[in-house]
Amino acid sequence: MERKNYIGKIYGRLTVIGEAKMAAGYKRRLICCCSCGNKVVVFACNLARGHTTSCGCAKKEIIEAGAHTIHGKRYTRIYEIWRSMKQRCNNPNKSNYDRYGGRGISVCEEWNNSFEPFYEWAVSSGYA
Ligand SMILES: [Zn+2]
Repeated sequence: MERKNYIGKIYGRLTVIGEAKMAAGYKRRLICCCSCGNKVVVFACNLARGHTTSCGCAKKEIIEAGAHTIHGKRYTRIYEIWRSMKQRCNNPNKSNYDRYGGRGISVCEEWNNSFEPFYEWAVSSGYA
């Protein structure tokens, strides 16, 4: 089986700088340098599939931004809009619930269940 050469390749924030020592029972692993300065050892298959794109710092930033699958901080505001829209319609304890949920206004199921469809809608209708 031909071994793919990963060294020097860039996956997201990671640049492959070397091969990790093969250990019995382990899949092929690579040593990567993250753009934040961390060095990490990752599975080659995860890199190739795009599952691993940072040392973990990118994931942390997404969690801090409050978005689960949409990347980057610039989405924080629209995420907040989505969240408070759901609150207004679903949470009777919210001060403006009576103007929304209390009047029978509800978030459609698709938007209620996940942020992405709302986000896509917002962008395609010109949200900036
Ligand atoms: Zn990093």
